[in-house]
This record gives sequence, C-alpha cells and structure tokens, in this order.
Amino acid sequence: MSAPARRVAVVGAGIAGLSAAHALRRHAAARGERIDLAVLEASAGVGGQLQSVREDGYLVEWAANAFRTGVGPTQDLVQRLGLEDEQVVASPDANRRFILHGGRLHALPSGPASLLRFAPMSLLGRLRVAAEPFMARRVEREESVFEYAERHIGREAAEVLLGTMVRGVYGGDARALSVDAAFPIMKTMEREHRSLVIAGIRGAKQRKAEGKTTWSLRGGMHALMQRLADDLGDAVRTGAPVRALAYDPDAGFTLTLGAGERARFDAVVLATPPRVTAPLVEPLEPAAAAEIGAIEAAAIAMVALAVPRSQFATPPDGYGFLVAPSEPLDVLGVLFESNVFPGRSPEGHALLRVIMGGAARPDILSQGDDALVATARDVLEHTLGLRGPHTRSWIYRNPAAIPQYRLGHRARVARIEAHLGRFPGLEVAGNAYRGIAVGAIVDDAEGIAGRVLAAAPARPVAA
Ligand SMILES: Cc1cc2nc3c(=O)[nH]c(=O)nc-3n(C[C@H](O)[C@H](O)[C@H](O)COP(=O)(O)OP(=O)(O)OC[C@H]3O[C@@H](n4cnc5c(N)ncnc54)[C@H](O)[C@@H]3O)c2cc1C
Repeated sequence: MSAPARRVAVVGAGIAGLSAAHALRRHAAARGERIDLAVLEASAGVGGQLQSVREDGYLVEWAANAFRTGVGPTQDLVQRLGLEDEQVVASPDANRRFILHGGRLHALPSGPASLLRFAPMSLLGRLRVAAEPFMARRVEREESVFEYAERHIGREAAEVLLGTMVRGVYGGDARALSVDAAFPIMKTMEREHRSLVIAGIRGAKQRKAEGKTTWSLRGGMHALMQRLADDLGDAVRTGAPVRALAYDPDAGFTLTLGAGERARFDAVVLATPPRVTAPLVEPLEPAAAAEIGAIEAAAIAMVALAVPRSQFATPPDGYGFLVAPSEPLDVLGVLFESNVFPGRSPEGHALLRVIMGGAARPDILSQGDDALVATARDVLEHTLGLRGPHTRSWIYRNPAAIPQYRLGHRARVARIEAHLGRFPGLEVAGNAYRGIAVGAIVDDAEGIAGRVLAAAPARPVAA
C-alpha cells in the first residue's frame, strides 16, 4: 500500500510562498513521495510585493526590480519554468551608481583610483580606506554594520559609504542593523580573507565562476510570479485569507480561512509578513509569536515618474543614486529604471522611481499623493535639473515593506526556529527571517522544503 499524500499548506503567494511551494513539489517528487499542496493567498492576485504594472509603454515595479544571482536555485528555477529566453540582463551602464552628498551627485568609487578622488570624503578618510589591508582583523562577535565598517575602513567611510548603503537597501540605520544578519557576505569575506580589500581581489575569480548578474524578466518581476503560479496550477487559491492556525499532535494542523472554512494539513509554511504570522502562531506558541512580532519593518513610499528625457538639464546616468544620511531629505534613493533594462519606457522618455520613508520615517505614509510627488520632483529638480511637467506618476505605499535585521536578529530567528521545532512540519518563510533579497528567499525555499518533508508525518485523512 502506498503512503498517503502529505497535505501541505503554504500561506501567502509572494515569492517566498510560491518558491517554497515549487520546491516542496519538486523535493517530494525526488523522494518519490506524493504531496497534496495548497497555496492560500489573501489578496486577489499572486506575487505579494512583486507587482509589475505595464501602462502607456512603461513598466513600473512596486518593489524589487531585479535579481542579483548566478548559478544556483534561482537560475535553476528560471530554467525549469522555461523562462530563460525572457531573462534580461542589466545594461553595463547600470554599473555606474551615484551618491547624493553635500547637495551634489558623486560617482560611487569602483576601485582604488576612483576612491582616492572621492570628494564626499576627506583625504585622510580616503587614505584610511586604502590602509584597510594593514589594519583589518577578524572579529567573531556580532556587530552592527557601522561597527564592522568602522573597524575595516574607518569612521568616515563607514558613515558616508555604509551608512548610505544601509539606508538605500534596508531603509535603515547602519548603527542599528546587524552586519551578521543583514550582510552575512561581509562577515564571510572577513572570516576567509581577513581584509575586505584582499577578499575583493581574491574573490573576483570566484564571483566570475558564480556568474552573478543583475537581471529581470522582459515582463518584469511579476512575470516570474505568474509563471510560478501557473506552474502550480489548481494548488493556488487567491482570495483565501488564513485567519487562524491550530495544532493537534494526532490530527496535525487546522487552518481557518476567511469564510470560516476549515482544512487539515500535515505541514504548514507561513510565508506571510510577521504582523500576520505572529497572531497565527500565538495560540500554538506565544513565545514564538512574541519573537516574530518583534521583527519590525520599515515603511516605504514609492513614486514613479515618467518624464520626457529632454526635460533634464543633466540626463539620468547609470543605475541611480542613494541619498547620504546627512542630507536633509525625505528620499532614500532614486532608481533610473529605464536605464537598467530595455523596454521600461517609450523612446525619448525616462522612468524614475523615487523611494522614500524608511525605519525612521513611518510618517511618510500619511503624506498625500501631491506631497509625495512634490518631494520626488524636488529631489530630481535639484540633482538632475528637471524642468517642466512629468507625464505620468504612480504611487505605492507599504507600511511594512522592509524588515529590519537589528542586532540580535540571527539569535532571534534561531529562537523562533527552536520554538517552532516543537511542531513538526511548521515553518516560517519570507523576507523577515533569513534574507530580504529575492534571490536569498528562493535559496531559503530549498531548505524549507527539505525540512518540511523530513519532519512532517503523513497522516491518514479522517473519515
Ligand atoms: C522599494 C523596494 C525595493 C526592493 N528592491 C529589491 C531589489 O532590487 N532586489 C531584491 O532582491 N529585493 C528587493 N526588495 C525586497 C523584495 O521585494 C522583498 O523582500 C520580497 O518581495 C518579499 O517577498 P515575501 O514573499 O517575503 O513577502 P510578500 O511579497 O509581502 O508576500 C507575502 C504574501 O502573503 C500574503 N498574505 C498576507 N496575509 C495573508 C493571510 N492572512 N492569508 C494568506 N495570505 C496572506 C500577502 O498578500 C502576500 O501576497 C525591495 C523591496 C522594496 C519595498
């Protein structure tokens, strides 16, 4: 007699949920096991934050605009879904990135020569960076991004370079976020090479072998989400919010859906944001719920503007710019979307995304559309000499967009995993735990699928 199929629910159809569901099905097939999968999504469509809006010849992304991956699970996924011909690699011009500092745009240094000319830092500060290989040492304890950077490249570079990067990537504060959790690669480089400069030189060969590129799909990030959902077929149910979770060691997990419908499962992957996951876990394990609920996320407002290129005194160049924390501006950064991938705007027009808010500015969401657009235009007027009207705008607000991996985050996640370990087959997934980048989330799905299938018993369905 063959074993009964394992009934597995994945709650949430963002990239975390969809990639976990896909990995679960594949891992089960590889183990020769049957799986009965249900992906339950509250909203009317799949993709979560990864929405790509195509209008009037523009393609506007709500959140991530690209993967930065090479060989590995994401590329395998693209191949399995038959999407290789749809992949578009970022233009080489997008390697040019800028920082807004002292009211002016400066090219971010790409090597030792450009670093020595990098005007936002004093000569002493620049020389301190150059001295890194002589001063670098290994430190095992957890540190903030700022502490780590200060140790390696000095206080000034930590403030100007890393402070700006953390604001741009996480909408957060380099002194509050953990380098071990937010940028684990930095700790790995130190562990393996001691010095970041030496790691940069020696690691070039390895990076080439990994073939990491910045890429998207012709139809934008949502195209991958839609293809994943199509591939999962009937397993995906939209308009199906999960309201409650219960557990019984003999019967397994029971999910209650919005309409009061109940369904039993052998395993559950909660790929929902912490503010949703914490109350679901609360009745099972209040301590885990408290830890999950304590993972805060930064609010983000995004304004995309369509502008005839002729209206810029200085046309947008490269990928875009990040705003240094010292600038008196509400803006975190500006992405020159139409420079990065082809087909994102009509000929002669530019598409720019202005990202605002961050952990320190949750109030940004209370600003009206006109105020947000005015802020976006203001920064473009001052940096690129924007004159005349824009032709279109799109506004997107997210009160909990980017989780903040504060000091202690990894220990917190380890405690959550230990608490949930008491419920075989229960996993949490998503950008709040083991990486915010879309590539990291797809990598994480592999581990989640393996753990679920290893732990969850397949129970006979009650009559
Ligand atoms: C402005 C911005 C720019 C970014 N740029 C990049 C980038 O360039 N590169 C990069 O790698 N990353 C980037 N990111 C991060 C990346 O987009 C996110 O980390 C990722 O999309 C999050 O995916 P997720 O599946 O964890 O969560 P989500 O996309 O939030 O998915 C969660 C899903 O759960 C559903 N849900 C909620 N409650 C329930 C419920 N009760 N029942 C059922 N379903 C429920 C939601 O509707 C949603 O579909 C960016 C983020 C932002 C905000």
